[in-house]
Amino acid sequence: MLSFLLQKFAGRHHRKYVEKCRPVVVRINEFDRQYQALTDEQLRAKTDEFRGRIKAGEKLDALLPEAFAVVKNAARRMVGRTIIVCDHELTWDMVHFDVQLIGGITLHEGRIAEMATGEGKTLVATLPLYLNALTGRNAQLVTVNDYLARRDSEWMGHLYTFLGISVGCIQQQMHSELRREMYGRDITYGTASEFGFDYLRDNGMATRKEDQVQRDHFFCIVDEIDSILVDEARTPLIISGPAPIEREQPFMRLKPGVEQLVHVQLRFINKLVKEAVDILEKKDITDEDKRRAAMMMLQVKLGMPKNKQLLRLQENPEWRKLLDKIDVEMHSDFNKDELYKYKEELYFVIDEKNHQADLTEPGRKQLRPDDPDAFVLPDLASRFIDIEKDHNLSPEQKEQAKRDAQSRYEVVSEDIHALSQLLRAYALYERDVEYVVQEGKVVIVDENTGRIMTGRRWSDGLHQAVEAKENVTIERETRTYATVTIQNYFRMYEKLAGMTGTAETEATEFHEIYRLAVTQIPTNKPCIRLDRNDSIFKTRRDKYGAVVKQIQEAQGRGQPVLVGTVTVEQSEVLSRMLKRAGVIHTVLNAKFHQQEAEIVTRAGQRGSVTIATNMAGRGTDIKLGEGVRELGGLLVVGTERHESRRIDRQLRGRCSRQGDPGATKFFLSLEDDLMRLFLQGNLASRIMEGAMNEGEELEHPWLNRSIESAQKKVEQQNFSIRKRLLQYDDVLNKQREVIYGIRNGALHSERPKEIIFEMIEEELAARLENAGFGEKSEVSAASIESLVGWLNSHFPVSAKVAEIPARGDFDAVLKDLLERIKKAYALKEAVEDPAALGGLERYIVINAIDHHWQEHLTEMEELRRSIGLRSYGQKDPLSEYKGEAYRFFEELMNNVRLQICTTLFRSATNRDAFENLFAILSRSARLQGPDAAPTALAAATQAAAPAGAAPAASAEEIKLPSVTIRRDTPKVGRNDPCPCGSGKKYKNCHGAS
Ligand code: ADP
Ligand code: MG
Repeated sequence: MLSFLLQKFAGRHHRKYVEKCRPVVVRINEFDRQYQALTDEQLRAKTDEFRGRIKAGEKLDALLPEAFAVVKNAARRMVGRTIIVCDHELTWDMVHFDVQLIGGITLHEGRIAEMATGEGKTLVATLPLYLNALTGRNAQLVTVNDYLARRDSEWMGHLYTFLGISVGCIQQQMHSELRREMYGRDITYGTASEFGFDYLRDNGMATRKEDQVQRDHFFCIVDEIDSILVDEARTPLIISGPAPIEREQPFMRLKPGVEQLVHVQLRFINKLVKEAVDILEKKDITDEDKRRAAMMMLQVKLGMPKNKQLLRLQENPEWRKLLDKIDVEMHSDFNKDELYKYKEELYFVIDEKNHQADLTEPGRKQLRPDDPDAFVLPDLASRFIDIEKDHNLSPEQKEQAKRDAQSRYEVVSEDIHALSQLLRAYALYERDVEYVVQEGKVVIVDENTGRIMTGRRWSDGLHQAVEAKENVTIERETRTYATVTIQNYFRMYEKLAGMTGTAETEATEFHEIYRLAVTQIPTNKPCIRLDRNDSIFKTRRDKYGAVVKQIQEAQGRGQPVLVGTVTVEQSEVLSRMLKRAGVIHTVLNAKFHQQEAEIVTRAGQRGSVTIATNMAGRGTDIKLGEGVRELGGLLVVGTERHESRRIDRQLRGRCSRQGDPGATKFFLSLEDDLMRLFLQGNLASRIMEGAMNEGEELEHPWLNRSIESAQKKVEQQNFSIRKRLLQYDDVLNKQREVIYGIRNGALHSERPKEIIFEMIEEELAARLENAGFGEKSEVSAASIESLVGWLNSHFPVSAKVAEIPARGDFDAVLKDLLERIKKAYALKEAVEDPAALGGLERYIVINAIDHHWQEHLTEMEELRRSIGLRSYGQKDPLSEYKGEAYRFFEELMNNVRLQICTTLFRSATNRDAFENLFAILSRSARLQGPDAAPTALAAATQAAAPAGAAPAASAEEIKLPSVTIRRDTPKVGRNDPCPCGSGKKYKNCHGAS
């Protein structure tokens, strides 16, 4: 009751918003009453009427009450109808409640509607989706998985169809034609990753506009928005394929060394543990002894934070306290030197919180006794200075020495990186917890859902390191074709909205990153859920014992129980314990969404016990079985507090829907990760360790609050990680916008020669500037010669040195040269197949962009990685990254321009056209005189012409590579799936010739 009151006070600003919506709700309901007099056809005709009024300029906001009322009225007419949803029969029984109308207004205004589980968010979304789809633009809804996309689009589809609005959904296996059709409908349901990947394929891979599937980024509602924009936001969407060049992988080479290192560290640590215990168990132990023992424990923690013996040691509250105290003390700046000394006694140091691993001096010696510097980054700058100063070296030798130094630097920095990833793989990544090995592959286990994430890979070499550790094939390095973060994908929408049961705790993040405000919508009926205090135990064993007992009691009464765990492993442990205790139960193995949803639906039946990872089955409603209400409704048991309060709230929210009774309770132990990492040395742990004995239970409202504040700390830390990630990605995002903009321009233009000539103009301008045009002094003869050389080797313009005035005005020269190139191109156009010219030009632009952009993405990834290594100075790595990224981008644009210049006259729609062009040009050349031979073209023709054709070029001409008529594609095996994501084999798709 108390918490109910508190909630009421906290929500003042939400209430204000809700009050503002009330008059609108009244109007909607008035219209709904009026519409009851209409026939079905008349109601349906409203849709076209609204469309017309929008065309005539009426604003959506003005239309909202009527449009919402039409949807509500249609829902009312459907009550009692039998409908089919995902092959099941269902009776429609929903008419929008007032709070659902308020939810709908909130969504239309581009906010996040926080509505508890079971409040009917699926139905709420129909209102704004209908209204926004009336504009003729694509209104979209994002769900957490494919199954829900299909379920909700089919379920709500009956309502839309009734109103003459078309709806579709995107599924993973769909080919692009069907996708395009689905996006073409008024309303489209789908998952974030399908939408994101389609965006990437459309903009980064499609080579014709007919291949693009999406039509709009207009209005999008994200269901379970926290799960998608917060939990999934750390792994970007990446389309990748095998890298063209294979580099030697250092992992296998370094693995034996690392294994040995882990081994010696373990031996050292076991010794430390033993010594520490010996000291601590002494009868009359001095303070000095205590400190010594504590230091040893701390060393163990630094060397192997997840060491089992260390965990056992900490079960003794007094020893645990000692460790916590010294930990805090040693990490103060004051003790930096001493801490360093202790670290240097280890071989490597693990920072669990920051997921870091570093070698120490003894570690380096152990690895390479002959060359302890093998893993120290050379100081490149001073090495260069030394080389410069060395008078015994010729300039060429100096150059060579610098190149050698540079490449050694690269090897060492790669080794250091691989080594650190291997250490992490061995010390922090445990098989069957963080990952599983299936069919010779390392597969990630999602830390939140416990799902097996087939196909996803850890980035930055970690995956390869784990593969090396597990002795499975190390997968080839891949090249990124296109990538975007989920955050940046959704920031493209003109209007974004979201709904979830739990947004409030992340409200700051939603506001800062997406400019989304959170509004709490009151429940339809008051929520009477009972949240009991947490129970805390000393050991995991005790905790699970209590959980089993609680479940048995509930099952004895017939009350259904839903047990939430943080990992799959815990689900399995608990399942085994329940089996031993003879409790019949179901475990959600989270492999198939539909099956999962069906199991969750039954979780409210009398006597049922369901174990699920915290987020499995999300989006599916748990209805209470007969007689369960009287038993107190569904009991939700949490077996561990999650890092984030939101996930805990999510679990609690699974019971007490729509005014149902229900209760929740969490069971914790001092061995839980959260408790271990973040309760160190604070008040709560002091209370606990004083009082706790094995098997004892502790429970107090204070404790709940203490734990919550620990969670808040982790949440903030995770938020800043995500924000940092985003700051880095913003840099790439801006570049992506520019590149995709040009690419799309080429894709959608009938004849993208404008773009080509812009590029040529820029290239010319840069070259003129370099040569010194536009400056006071005269341009040197050498510069002019080299300019003419370049011109003639790229364009058939027969430029001559004498034609270019050394004192020429920059703009005039530029204009003249550009004109000549355009004229030459006009000749080319005359002989080409006109129908194919647009395609050829498009190909020239897109091929240049793709090739260099993909290379750029790889380079940017490497930059990201190396910037970390560079951050030792006082420099801010982010601004370093920005500076470098800018330079990289300039280079990218240079390369693109240059490639366009190079390929323009070396591509042809067909061989005949090519030869015709040559004929025309050589005729015009004859008219102009002998030394005006169309150099570039002649050379190219020579390379392309079949053997025996008359050689048309003179001896001095520069040899150019052969004609590029076909698109040069990344090296993908002919039978591999095509990297464009069509699902077809490469040879039948982009690789078809
Ligand atoms: P949420 O996504 O908010 O957790 P759902 O959309 O899954 O909730 O709906 C939960 C349940 O509530 C569904 O079984 C649905 O049929 C029911 N429901 C939703 N709105 C209404 C309504 N207006 N009247 C009756 N039942 C409703
Ligand atoms: Mg839902």
